[in-house]
Amino acid sequence: MPKYELIVVGAGTSALNYLYALLKTEGPKKYSIAEAEKAFGQGKVPASVMEKLSGSFPKSILVIGESDLWERAGTFNPGYKVGQTSDHVRTPDSSVAVGRDSAFRPVSEYNSEMRKLRENVEKGVQDIGGSINFLRSQVTKISEAGDGYSVKAQASPVAYTCSKVIVASGAGPTSLPDPLKLENIGHKELLKFKRAYEELIGGTEYLYSFAPKGKQVVVYGGAPTSAWVVARAKQHNCKILWVARSGWGGANPAGRNKEVIEWATKNKVTRQTDIASVDVITPPVLGEARIHVNFSDGTDCTVHQLIYATGADPLGKGGPGQILESKLRDKLLPRYDPNYRFSPTDDVPVAWATENETCWVVGAPVFRALGKLGATGDAALKSFQDRYRKISAIMGEAGTPEEGVAVVTASIKSTTGFTQTGANFNWNTADLLELRAFLTRTYGNALSDNERADLAQKIVAKRSEKGLYPVQFPRDAFVKVIQDYGRLRNQNLPDPFSADIKKFSGQYDWLAANSGKRT
Ligand SMILES: Cc1cc2nc3c(=O)[nH]c(=O)nc-3n(C[C@H](O)[C@H](O)[C@H](O)COP(=O)(O)OP(=O)(O)OC[C@H]3O[C@@H](n4cnc5c(N)ncnc54)[C@H](O)[C@@H]3O)c2cc1C
Repeated sequence: MPKYELIVVGAGTSALNYLYALLKTEGPKKYSIAEAEKAFGQGKVPASVMEKLSGSFPKSILVIGESDLWERAGTFNPGYKVGQTSDHVRTPDSSVAVGRDSAFRPVSEYNSEMRKLRENVEKGVQDIGGSINFLRSQVTKISEAGDGYSVKAQASPVAYTCSKVIVASGAGPTSLPDPLKLENIGHKELLKFKRAYEELIGGTEYLYSFAPKGKQVVVYGGAPTSAWVVARAKQHNCKILWVARSGWGGANPAGRNKEVIEWATKNKVTRQTDIASVDVITPPVLGEARIHVNFSDGTDCTVHQLIYATGADPLGKGGPGQILESKLRDKLLPRYDPNYRFSPTDDVPVAWATENETCWVVGAPVFRALGKLGATGDAALKSFQDRYRKISAIMGEAGTPEEGVAVVTASIKSTTGFTQTGANFNWNTADLLELRAFLTRTYGNALSDNERADLAQKIVAKRSEKGLYPVQFPRDAFVKVIQDYGRLRNQNLPDPFSADIKKFSGQYDWLAANSGKRT
């Protein structure tokens, strides 16, 4: 008999979003229970009815994971900011008013919201008489065992067992570019004489590591992680050469890393080229720099550290595709958005799961297909990623990066069936389903189903116009798209946020009084 009903691997954004959404969708239907108690009397609701209303949320949960990127970033640089606003990078129970900020959100703020989300999840589980424990450890293997799963973690010599497992452990370690693969490195045998620091290290791992001070470093890559690496190496007084094959446009989502890029350009530490080969040399002075890098443009240099920020590899050490036993990984199938939240026609992948739905992979690794569809560049992986990109495409500025917080949160909402409700409606990240539901809540029958779907598409198209709203989609622009659409159909749709909107919703009278004759 498995010990836990559910084990969640990972304790970051995806894991907590998943648990919160599950509580909302599979937790007890509190309103219906109260109604049933009114009808049958307190304590007299038939057991069969009560069982249905109590939901199927697991009662014993173990969450295994270390701190996530944001928690660690907060410790090594409290001033760090995420690349979006509080409308984009936020928790589903955030109480920050939508549309309040148009500045990059401090990581410290997101971290405190995440702590609150965890507390709310813990409280939600306790309220239904369940138990949830958080264990700080690394999972090394997940395998099928009996009628459930066995999860091996470094913290315990005995594997944990569970009926259902959710893998929310992030995208995986940095993928190793070809010239840095051990078999391609000249005099690699010299690397067995280790230094006190890693000489070849992935970008994310560098951010997590004790980074040495005053060294010569090459930073390789042109995405946001490379900009964070440069910022950290700069703080540590390193001498930096920042190399990117395709320039630095991608390193600058919505202008967050502007200062780092400007600093690098002004100080002439950037070079647009590629790494051709890497050798380990015997340095003239013992202990000095010995990683010799040859670039495609014919130049070269010798550095203490080569930091490669080149995307994630789910099959890398400790990555989600690697910790899943291979025969279990083979059984995982892509799961598609069942409610056309991201596109009116195509199937958009939002998770991976076994056929019996007891093992799920959610969050950042979904996009990389767990390494199941071949190496990057493979046609199947490319077409899979193109479909996944529809999630980020409808998000406007919130959709960058495509494995970012807004995008993984949206994919988890779709996986679990959770939709945002309540007064604090987030028009910056709402998916098509949420927009249609919002239009129904605010305008009742003033719009037909088809019109709601059509208007939701128009909002998304406007929100996603690149560069038009460089940081976020302002509320007045959101309202204008709705009102312009109404005018097109000869309807005076009021501001959905106006104080008296409630009296209009669902009122045919209002529609008759406020609209011209519909054609
Ligand atoms: C440098 C950098 C900058 C970024 N900037 C932005 C940004 O500005 N805006 C934005 O929206 N997104 C940004 N992202 C992406 C953002 O980090 C992800 O969207 C988000 O963190 C994904 O959440 P996740 O929970 O899926 O993965 P993660 O946040 O990576 O969390 C993974 C969790 O799993 C745990 N874990 C990993 N392996 C194991 C294992 N083997 N066993 C147990 N636990 C494990 C980790 O300790 C952690 O708790 C950035 C990413 C990087 C690397």
